[in-house]
Amino acid sequence: MTVLVTGGSGYIGSHTCLELLNAGYDVVVIDNLCNSSPKSLQRVEELAGGKHIPFYQADVRDRAALTKIFEEHTIDFVIHFAGLKAVGESVAKPLAYYDNNLNATMTLCDVMGSHGCKRIVFSSSATVYSGDNKMPLSETSKTGNCTNPYGWTKYMGEQILRDIAKADPEWSVCNLRYFNPVGAHESGLIGEDPKDIPNNLMPYISQTAIGRRDHLSVFGNDYDTPDGTGVRDYIHVVDLARGHVAALSYLQDHKGECIFNLGTGVGYSVLDMVHAFETANGVDVPYEIAPRRPGDLPTVYSSPEKSRQVLGWEATYSLEDMCRDTWHWQSLNPNGYQD
Ligand code: NAD
Ligand code: UDP
Repeated sequence: MTVLVTGGSGYIGSHTCLELLNAGYDVVVIDNLCNSSPKSLQRVEELAGGKHIPFYQADVRDRAALTKIFEEHTIDFVIHFAGLKAVGESVAKPLAYYDNNLNATMTLCDVMGSHGCKRIVFSSSATVYSGDNKMPLSETSKTGNCTNPYGWTKYMGEQILRDIAKADPEWSVCNLRYFNPVGAHESGLIGEDPKDIPNNLMPYISQTAIGRRDHLSVFGNDYDTPDGTGVRDYIHVVDLARGHVAALSYLQDHKGECIFNLGTGVGYSVLDMVHAFETANGVDVPYEIAPRRPGDLPTVYSSPEKSRQVLGWEATYSLEDMCRDTWHWQSLNPNGYQD
């Protein structure tokens, strides 16, 4: 079985390619490298014992490039990671986000359909859930009211796939809603390599610990949470990657649309993360309390029950594992893949 992985050289994509190869799938990747390095896939090949990943450096909106891939390979499944993901940038450049994320999804599905490949897993996000839900979030919690264009591209991406599955009963569509992916492969060879100043907490913590940033700004300590700082559901990227392998097995014999949360079901605060990182790695993470970040919710965490019961998948890595593996990657590669 061959899986086309769009955005496969990125953070989650590279870890998923490795888990797919380990599970016996063949993998083909398309990525335009707008936010990643070709080194990640070389390292995945190394970790997979020298297995080869055919790589196409192209934009998923490029119909001709996609068609060539489908002509050169028999693709059984697609996992669609390719997308822009910086929330702040999406507010500043909404058209770039709608164009990249939605046109990629539509072009991809069109080319898939015309080659008889109708099984897709889509990288969605907890950001599609409306801010007025009770925790934990289950797959039936209310969606919408997104606070930024990035979130809307995920909401609309899901809807496009849902409509395709409704129109043609041959399609199998799996919308996976990720919570907060962190960590890295235990080898320290692949990991998250933000091009600019990190927006997300964990890469900011590790870049502060290694001295690339002066201190972490903790965005608000007056939320209604146990220590006043924001609470999120952090999940090890290898657990997340394995969730995709579980989703492919499920798609083998299920048609229509399915939705699964990929989270641990446990929430940790910003200060929990700082202290866990310091303890796991014996390093200091200087921080200062800063104002709240606009659009942030106090607490977000998943119910992982449906994924556990239906996919037979659950997260296995602890917070300590997440912190240790992040630091291992960061200290072996202080400047990411540039080293
Ligand atoms: P990433 O930026 O590391 O990976 C995305 C990859 O897609 C990059 O390699 C980039 O070069 C590529 N890409 C982007 N647009 C493309 C296009 N038009 N054509 C070809 N390649 C393109 O990000 P990631 O963290 O690995 O995220 C993967 C997916 O998961 C994204 O869709 C993201 O929105 C989604 N997601 C991520 C998180 C997170 O916190 N990391 C959370 C929820 C959902
Ligand atoms: N956060 C923070 N400082 C940072 C980055 C994030 O205090 O430099 C907080 C943020 O306010 C939120 C949590 O860390 O409470 C997770 O933020 P992230 O951007 O990683 O994920 P998301 O908000 O998308 O869940």
